[in-house]
Amino acid sequence: MRILATGGAGFVGSATVRRLLKGGHEVFVYDNLSTGHADSVPGELLCRADLDDSERLVDFLRSKQIETVMHFAGSIAVGESVEDPRSYYRNNVINSQILLESMLEADVGRILFSSTAAVYAATDGLLTEDSAKDPDSPYAFSKWAIEKMIADFSRAYGLGYGVLRYFNACGGSEEGRFGEDHHPETHLIPLVLKVPLGQREFIGIFGNDYPTPDGTCIRDYIHVDDLAEAHLLAAEAITPGRGSVYNIGTGTGNSVLEVIETAQDVVGEKIATEILPRRAGDAARLVAGSEKLRSELGWQPRYKNLREIIASAWQWHQANPNGYEK
Ligand code: UDP
Repeated sequence: MRILATGGAGFVGSATVRRLLKGGHEVFVYDNLSTGHADSVPGELLCRADLDDSERLVDFLRSKQIETVMHFAGSIAVGESVEDPRSYYRNNVINSQILLESMLEADVGRILFSSTAAVYAATDGLLTEDSAKDPDSPYAFSKWAIEKMIADFSRAYGLGYGVLRYFNACGGSEEGRFGEDHHPETHLIPLVLKVPLGQREFIGIFGNDYPTPDGTCIRDYIHVDDLAEAHLLAAEAITPGRGSVYNIGTGTGNSVLEVIETAQDVVGEKIATEILPRRAGDAARLVAGSEKLRSELGWQPRYKNLREIIASAWQWHQANPNGYEK
């Protein structure tokens, strides 16, 4: 398959690009490097460009004879989206519309979209794809709007699509060669590991008064290489004119405190914490049922527990304390 990965130099995008290349696909990365890292993908595959330049995008799609777009590009931080919603609607919703229209113009018929668990309403049970939605941050709402837009484009113009709702992507790849590196970093696991790296004094816990057993939020932490595998399977299964939505999680929930305790165990030292107020836009508990992904596409996560995932992230952070920056 000839694939264009928008945002393919980001954390999940680049892990997927590596997996696709191993699977024998032809991949091009379309990324403005506003948050992505050139060093996370083979340089010859990278086109540095903005999605809102539709003329250039249509040209690129045509000249490379792209068959499938994997749409990773977008802004991803819940808290930031509450502070700065307009950049979320622009980067996520408006740029996705430009992408979809460009695909129609260039006759590209298949798209796989990176959505999020944040579209769901929090619940005590496992979320399935049909669970109630409550996208209560601008970030979550922007992703939900794009899901709707893609489904409408499919109905009206025959696009084939897959939507993958990610739970909490994390972990390091290839013995610490690749990993998570956001500026500013907002994600729990890299922030926790910055304490033993000596880059932070403590990890702040955003609220310990949630309706969960230890009072801290529960998430489903999934290794980025398992996410990448799901992209490969889902892309190969896209059928013209039809769409499928899949959760990608492990089915296991871990609280913020459990993440910190496991990280302490992995690094072999105590990690200082401080209880802070709740962060706006956070749901108490988001854990995925991934039965559909397993039964329809045969997906199986390779990383089965939080310890293995955090150990792989620690390998990356220890080897690259400043991320991709040399
Ligand atoms: N979190 C925290 N302290 C931090 C960063 C995150 O307590 O410095 C919590 C956050 O409130 C959420 C969980 O960790 O409950 C996972 O947050 P993250 O930003 O990693 O992912 P999200 O679930 O927002 O996509």
